[in-house]
Amino acid sequence: MKFAIANWKMNLPPEGIDPYMRAVSNAAREQAAIVVAPPYPFLRDVAAQAKGVDVAAQNASENDKGAFTGEVAPAMIRYCGVRYVILGHSERRQLYGENDALIARKLAVAMETGLTPVLCIGEDLRVRDAGEAPVHLAEQIHAVATAVGRGPIVVAYEPIWAIGTGRNASGALCAETVAEVRHAISRFWSRSDVSVLYGGSVTPENVDDLVTNGAIDGFLVGGASLDSSKFLAIYTALGRT
Ligand code: PEP
Repeated sequence: MKFAIANWKMNLPPEGIDPYMRAVSNAAREQAAIVVAPPYPFLRDVAAQAKGVDVAAQNASENDKGAFTGEVAPAMIRYCGVRYVILGHSERRQLYGENDALIARKLAVAMETGLTPVLCIGEDLRVRDAGEAPVHLAEQIHAVATAVGRGPIVVAYEPIWAIGTGRNASGALCAETVAEVRHAISRFWSRSDVSVLYGGSVTPENVDDLVTNGAIDGFLVGGASLDSSKFLAIYTALGRT
């Protein structure tokens, strides 16, 4: 299955929701799923307006309830009409200290609750330049293996050096790395049914290079997803593969 996921992060004002959701709902086609990931307080509004479009939370607690001030349980996210949850985003790993063990717990609880995780993995520039990216990515996949059940799950390969930097992976590098990710998924999760996306400075200008070899199952888009017309140009390019 193919996906274009719009990660708004902590952006877009509430008045931006209506026009955005109208535009993406009108454009949604069978060829690939559109998933919109707004901040928590907008989840219900976005879900109410989503027609043929799915909704994702950008994070979820590793606990199902309790005294965890400021946290949001997966069941509460489900209650908002949400189907997906982004977990292990590099901003969560880098800015909020989330490690593989915590992400594995989040994955397990989210999957038990019926949410489909979009697990983000990726290497930094030091690891890439040292030629250690395949090992690093395989370790990230291995680290959550016991938490991944048979339910649906999506993986997003997001090199940290490409996120929000304006420097995307080339189509060739992306294809090579996604093949390594698929290999690790089959080795450590014994699964061949996992969609693998790419994320990192995807724009309407570079999307054709990224889709030409048909190696990836879609995109997780940050900056360019804030403008619905840019996001939809990326979505449309996905349909050309
Ligand atoms: C992201 O945050 O997941 C992302 C891919 O951001 P950007 O497209 O802005 O690089």
